Amino acid sequence: MNINELVNSKNGDLIDDLTGWVDSIRDHGGLTFVDLRDFTGAVQLVFDKSGEVDTKLKNEYYISINGLFKKRNKELINNKIFLGDVEVEVTELNIINVSKTLPFQIEKDIDTDENIRLKYRYLDLRREPMKVNIMTRSNTFKSIRSVMNDLNIFEIDTPTLIKSTPEGAKDFLVPSRKSPSNFYALPQSPQMYKQLFMMAGFPNYYQIAKCYRDEDSRKDRQPEFTQLDLEFSDANPSLVKSNIEKIVKFVFSDAYDCKIDTPFKSLSYKDSMNLYGTDKPDMRITETLNDITNLFNDTEINFLKDILENGGLIKALHTEELLTRKQIDTLDTDIKAMGSNGLGWFKIDNKEITGPLAKLLQDSEKLEILKLGSGTLLFQAGDLHSIAQYLDFIRRTIFKPSSNEMYSFVWIEDFPFFEYEDDKLQPSHHPFTSPKDNETFKNDPINAIALHYDLVLNGVELGSGSQRINNPDIQELVLQKWGLSEEEIEERFGWFIEALSYGTPVHAGFAIGIDRLVAEVLNQPSIRDVIPFPKTQSGLDPLTNAPANIDEIVLEEYNLKYINKDE
Ligand code: ASP
Repeated sequence: MNINELVNSKNGDLIDDLTGWVDSIRDHGGLTFVDLRDFTGAVQLVFDKSGEVDTKLKNEYYISINGLFKKRNKELINNKIFLGDVEVEVTELNIINVSKTLPFQIEKDIDTDENIRLKYRYLDLRREPMKVNIMTRSNTFKSIRSVMNDLNIFEIDTPTLIKSTPEGAKDFLVPSRKSPSNFYALPQSPQMYKQLFMMAGFPNYYQIAKCYRDEDSRKDRQPEFTQLDLEFSDANPSLVKSNIEKIVKFVFSDAYDCKIDTPFKSLSYKDSMNLYGTDKPDMRITETLNDITNLFNDTEINFLKDILENGGLIKALHTEELLTRKQIDTLDTDIKAMGSNGLGWFKIDNKEITGPLAKLLQDSEKLEILKLGSGTLLFQAGDLHSIAQYLDFIRRTIFKPSSNEMYSFVWIEDFPFFEYEDDKLQPSHHPFTSPKDNETFKNDPINAIALHYDLVLNGVELGSGSQRINNPDIQELVLQKWGLSEEEIEERFGWFIEALSYGTPVHAGFAIGIDRLVAEVLNQPSIRDVIPFPKTQSGLDPLTNAPANIDEIVLEEYNLKYINKDE
């Protein structure tokens, strides 16, 4: 029997075969109290043959007991815990399994290195907060399946040994033993397959899909993650967005017991960058960026003059509070570490402006700055794309969420089709996204807008989607503009362009990162905390020691040879 079933027991009932782990042992002279824990809760056991029990039991032994259900004496009632008013007097003890000495305690708060927690993840998952995380994840899956059934969206699976699907990362490769020198790729997402379902005539699709992206360890990414992947035929962005709102609203209410308002707010990419310095704005913070470029049109501050002459901007954040020199210096150090040239600032106090640049201000500039009111004016100058990340960081550091909403969702739309990444042109979503206007794309692809929309929750990108290209010529053109040669297009995507050529409906879709969703809802610092068996930041699994060395004989079977580049 499990501990939760005790709620149906009455004083004096016989308890038969109650199982669980020894959570703690307290010796009180003639009596020994043991907290017994299982998946459903914990209960106090009382042993009156203390000597015998003490030598036998240790933490995490798995035991079964028979005994007598008892209401606790009034003075022993603990109202703070579930079943804190009852106990079981043990009449018989059966040790099902002993436990080695634990690498860490199975307690709520532990201060154990994450690598050790991951090495013994099965013990880490016995801890209450981890159980809550994993059960919230499980409830999320359950609610997703339930709302998908209600909306009549079909769950269909897609292969995981495939040819590459580009989503902006490198592939994890699987060598083919039977086809020497050839490799499968693990899917970065089911993107092309879900589009094939639409071409095949299915009205919609969803899947709780594993995706694999080999990325340099950036903050809080996992090489393998889980997403709710969706696609709809005869669909445009509005239809997808309204379905996503229904799904998210249902999951929040069903799995997290939380009401959220729909429709979500929406912002263009351009406005988002201008107002927040990011395309993932935390909308719970109400303060936005001010453009103070005009204020310095005739400036005598040389570095600002240069920036303005080169078409740059000056963007600022104004706090009503007078920041201390220490706060300003810390911000300055932090943004310099990110690559900024440093923080510009003025303090405005009692009609007086101070700061390292204050003496270079002209009277007209002073007047304008005073109009902003007392406080601190923090600024960055340059082209918006290079200063945006510092402004976003400053905004999130100096202002705290002030809206009452616990969860603030916003759609970001009208992304540029292409963006520069490490000086290379990349589709801002993926190359299957439809341009908003094909003619503009043909003539001026760099300035073209994509039918791509992201969903952002509290400053975290929860999901992305787009309307897809359904015309093979446009698909080919996009791949060309991306910089692929005719041969590469044919070799990598020829089969897909062929598939688009047999009457493909208009279609659009979306994917929500489930790990991120659960981490955000539970306010966890990392997605690793809501993934049962995550990899470390460097992509390793301390539990199984993956990735692992392969014997040379095995490599040979796969026609592979290891080359040590350092030798
Ligand atoms: N395949 C995209 C992704 O994984 C989502 C989508 O466009 O539906 O981000």
